[in-house]
Amino acid sequence: MKDFGLTVWGDDNFVIAGDTVCINHASRPSLLQLTQEIREKGYKGPLLLRFPHLIQKQISTLFNTFETAKETFGYKGEFHAVFPLKVNQFPNFVHALIDVSKPFRYGLEAGSKAELIIAMAETPIGAPITVNGFKDKEMIALCFIAAKMGHSITVTIEGIGELKSIVEVYEEFNRNSTSPVAPKIGVRIRLHASGIGIWAKSGGYSSKFGLTSTELLEAYEILRSHALLDKLWMVHFHIGSQMGDIAPLKKALREAGNIYADLKKRGANALRAINIGGGLAVEYSQHQRSEERNYSLSEFANDVVFLMQEIAKSKGVEEPDIFTESGRYIAASHSVLVAPVLELFSQEYSAKALRQKAENPPLIQELLDLYSTIERTNAREYLHDALDHMESLLTLFDLGYIDLEDRSNTEILVNLIIKKAILLLKEEGTDELRKIQDRIQERYLVNFSAFQSLPDFWGLAQHFPIMPLNHLSSKPTNPASIWDITCDSDGEIGFDRKRPLYLHDIDINQEEYFIGFFLTGAYQEVLGMKHNLFTHPTEAVITFDENGTYRIDSIIEAQNLMDILDDLDYDTGLIDKMLKQKIEESTLISKDEKEELLGKIYLYLSENSYLKTIQALKEDQGV
Ligand SMILES: *Cc1c(COP(=O)(O)O)cnc(C)c1O
Repeated sequence: MKDFGLTVWGDDNFVIAGDTVCINHASRPSLLQLTQEIREKGYKGPLLLRFPHLIQKQISTLFNTFETAKETFGYKGEFHAVFPLKVNQFPNFVHALIDVSKPFRYGLEAGSKAELIIAMAETPIGAPITVNGFKDKEMIALCFIAAKMGHSITVTIEGIGELKSIVEVYEEFNRNSTSPVAPKIGVRIRLHASGIGIWAKSGGYSSKFGLTSTELLEAYEILRSHALLDKLWMVHFHIGSQMGDIAPLKKALREAGNIYADLKKRGANALRAINIGGGLAVEYSQHQRSEERNYSLSEFANDVVFLMQEIAKSKGVEEPDIFTESGRYIAASHSVLVAPVLELFSQEYSAKALRQKAENPPLIQELLDLYSTIERTNAREYLHDALDHMESLLTLFDLGYIDLEDRSNTEILVNLIIKKAILLLKEEGTDELRKIQDRIQERYLVNFSAFQSLPDFWGLAQHFPIMPLNHLSSKPTNPASIWDITCDSDGEIGFDRKRPLYLHDIDINQEEYFIGFFLTGAYQEVLGMKHNLFTHPTEAVITFDENGTYRIDSIIEAQNLMDILDDLDYDTGLIDKMLKQKIEESTLISKDEKEELLGKIYLYLSENSYLKTIQALKEDQGV
């Protein structure tokens, strides 16, 4: 796996050139070069790199694929799309998205009041806004205000109670008006079909959301009796995120298509759109055999267009406009988290660390012999012998027959033998060998927090592609597990025999080794939590001009220690005072030293809470 599965998950966004991984666009800078340039400006700790050209690629691919599908089938409805803000609300992302999507009339979807405010302010007039989720009267009033601004906004009704609020707000807003203004109305339907996978709960009969058939008929009557039927224009569903299999979508489309057609025939004449929600999956897998998605975007688009056309034809209604709210698909690829390795945790297993005695216990002597004579033909046998000797030696230690030095020599020798055997037997790839790799895995302590930057790994065991930024022309040989810097044992991405990750053997005292975590642009940022008070990493936006030259802009530094405490509502003035006072009053500090120590504290308080690599500390000291 020298390419770290790039052909499975990379979508041609990155390319390995020489021994580094580069952006496969314009001047093709390497991720290492970008990282080093940002660090030279003085930013330390993990970095989140954003690439707007990848947002643009996803949006244009989405629109173009649906336009192609429409042409293929001669479909008469329009295609529209909105970005669901819950997937990523960060300003550097949203601004880039609005900027690159100008040619497409791409809009925003909001699921809360705060998101609605972002949508009202940022969406260009003429591009659609959809509003989903639970709403109170105030939120509905905001939708009416948006309509009065000239926005093309659709409020989706999730329950009958909301519809009653809409009727009330409508009457309040238009009491004295001769030309009433109101948002368009959508109905979210409760599907019989549901998604599959870890995010499937948004669809199906037990879903939190949507109207049952009975409630739909009731909603229809309420709208009719308040002369609002001409506002009902969209049928909406969402079957859950990261839909790995296309089958549930097809079922949902049939269900929703028939509901659309029946409501239309009943007299909902303004009905014109079907909103298929999100769910379009992203390939996170680094291994061909564990792919997460069984369909392509064109299959997805063709299915949607074909099924809608078929239902419209058979029921004799016009072909609806199609809306999608894909979020993960649009946002995931745009960002890469880059974090330096701080330490490797099994370097103690080097032959240099052996403490040989004038006379070693016989079994240790045998281990030494095995280690010095192991070769391809005897590797399997010697490996078994070594494991057997280890069991015996550990028992001898428990019984008091050998000492701590002997035990340490045992650990070192057995690990060295396993490592050598694995190298010698690599081609054979047997199950036994794979199992044994667990024993010699190298632990890479990486300067990031899984809770902050990969919360779906912690919460849902979602895998994200991982690869080092350089050394890519040499084969990585260490079975690796990754430790984050939180004091929580859940912050570990363990070595997985079924999906093994190998990293390089690096001397961290000599050079920095950076790990990239890919496809982190959807959901991870806002779900990330400040466990142990590690905050959102320093971020930067990388754009390319017409000549293909890159620019690094919009750097937002990770919060410093005082700001973090301020966020938790500590009185930072008081913290400051207490620290000063304790230094002042301490009898362990001389008068001269007091100033120096205070100076140090203030310097540290102005920095973020991530750790510094050995190289970064050297740079700080001007070495
Ligand atoms: C979350 C959500 C989406 C986005 O789903 P993705 O899987 O990220 O595409 C779309 N629509 C609604 C209603 C949602 O709740």
